[in-house]
Amino acid sequence: MMTSIVWIRKDLRLHDNPGLYHAAEAGKVLPVYIFDEDEKIGAAQKWFLHHALESFQKRLDSAGGKLFIAKGNPEKILNHLIKEYEITSIHWNRQYEPSVFNRDREIGEALHDQGLDVNTYEGRLLLPPWDVKKKDGEPYKVFTPFYKALQKHEVPQALPSVKKVDPVSFKKKDSLSLDDLELLPEIDWTGGMEKRWTPSEEAAVRRFQAFMDKKLKVYKKERDFPAAEVSSALSPYFALGLLSARSVYHSIKKNAEAAGEPFIRQLVWRDFAYSLITHFPETETDPMNDQFKDFKWMNEKNQFAAWKKGKTGFPIVDAGMRELWSTGYMHNRVRMIVGSFLTKDLLIHWREGADWFDDTLVDADVANNVMGWQWVAGSGADASPFFRIFNPTTQSEKFDPDGDYIKKWVPELKTMPAKHIHDPSGAPDDVLEEAGIVIGEDYPEPVVDHKAARQRALDRYDDVKKS
Ligand SMILES: Cc1cc2nc3c(=O)[nH]c(=O)nc-3n(C[C@H](O)[C@H](O)[C@H](O)COP(=O)(O)OP(=O)(O)OC[C@H]3O[C@@H](n4cnc5c(N)ncnc54)[C@H](O)[C@@H]3O)c2cc1C
Repeated sequence: MMTSIVWIRKDLRLHDNPGLYHAAEAGKVLPVYIFDEDEKIGAAQKWFLHHALESFQKRLDSAGGKLFIAKGNPEKILNHLIKEYEITSIHWNRQYEPSVFNRDREIGEALHDQGLDVNTYEGRLLLPPWDVKKKDGEPYKVFTPFYKALQKHEVPQALPSVKKVDPVSFKKKDSLSLDDLELLPEIDWTGGMEKRWTPSEEAAVRRFQAFMDKKLKVYKKERDFPAAEVSSALSPYFALGLLSARSVYHSIKKNAEAAGEPFIRQLVWRDFAYSLITHFPETETDPMNDQFKDFKWMNEKNQFAAWKKGKTGFPIVDAGMRELWSTGYMHNRVRMIVGSFLTKDLLIHWREGADWFDDTLVDADVANNVMGWQWVAGSGADASPFFRIFNPTTQSEKFDPDGDYIKKWVPELKTMPAKHIHDPSGAPDDVLEEAGIVIGEDYPEPVVDHKAARQRALDRYDDVKKS
């Protein structure tokens, strides 16, 4: 019989958790969570992580397991625990953030050389990121062929939930408590997130069920309209692994068939993002398209601050940025609009936007975030071409026609009629007067003139093309 460590990371669940499942099958188990400060994690996701860990601890307890919590260098901590508890094997589900993947591979090799039985699994994606490749063995850079190719593979069925863990006993004082990880902010600004999210595996499964029952049928038609709130909002649960992508995939395939395809397609974007970051790890910071290496960004500080605070004077941008600040989440269409606005209207480097998202999103995910930002900036794989610059006003008119999303997040514009809410500074004086809004006092003047900013961006792009 084996005595195993299962190294718990972004897989805080009992269902379809290959590392935990196989460790539990093999014998006694010491589940270990190590908070490594070198691994980048933003403030909003730390809040989510704290509660997700709390709930995972309880779930594990009910199956008989006890979570050992530590903080620091994973290699050192694992080596110490291996000796202390006479561990013979170790199991973990792989993570693919470039620095983490390389670090884990080195840890695995060293432990293997010491004679430990080392087992790693796919627990994050539908398929490992190296499985879906072109016929010539090259990775895909374009989504649709990747999507078609993935569909030709068989996605493994999800594993059953772990019901029973035979625990390795350890002294309580050897493990840290969850509070010792200091994941919660000192000043409490988390009210909006508390209202919106329940960070637990049970809540993730319930949310998915409710999505399948009520929203999936209108997903294709309405998913681009932020006020409709028909997308699944499962991303924070996927990000920290409270929900298995494979189990979601198979439930949708079984229960929804063709109606589920638009949702499966989005789920496959996630696998595509991981394929990109695995094969092109440099894109975490560098443009995928070399042309953009010499792009002249402006990075103007006050404009960046206005964007972050949701005070740009463009209501749809401000609504998105305030939704993000309050709840740790932003609708996908609005992420595209605020991203285009930052990189093209304000000419601020996409990496600045990505860092802000990393810090404020509860669903922050290196692969998805980098792909999303490179896409909006026009520098990524299969990106929106640079010259396709979103007009924030017409996007707003199209995707928030009644202004309901804007009114929710920018309440000072509540009294504006739908016709003018997308561009309040352009509204006639009598409309503003009737709405009781003074531009520059109640709501900011636009930080740029979109038409002029668009031309400036196109000129910079021309310079890059010439050089
Ligand atoms: C600039 C920018 C930054 C982004 N940063 C992140 C990020 O840090 N973390 C993150 O999870 N997503 C990110 N996205 C992708 C997308 O916006 C979110 O995944 C989506 O809004 C989550 O909402 P949902 O769960 O309701 O999605 P649904 O529409 O219900 O989709 C289901 C799941 O599919 C996956 N998915 C959907 N769309 C995408 C996509 N475009 N790319 C990759 N996966 C997708 C997500 O895991 C999502 O939970 C970013 C997009 C942009 C444009």
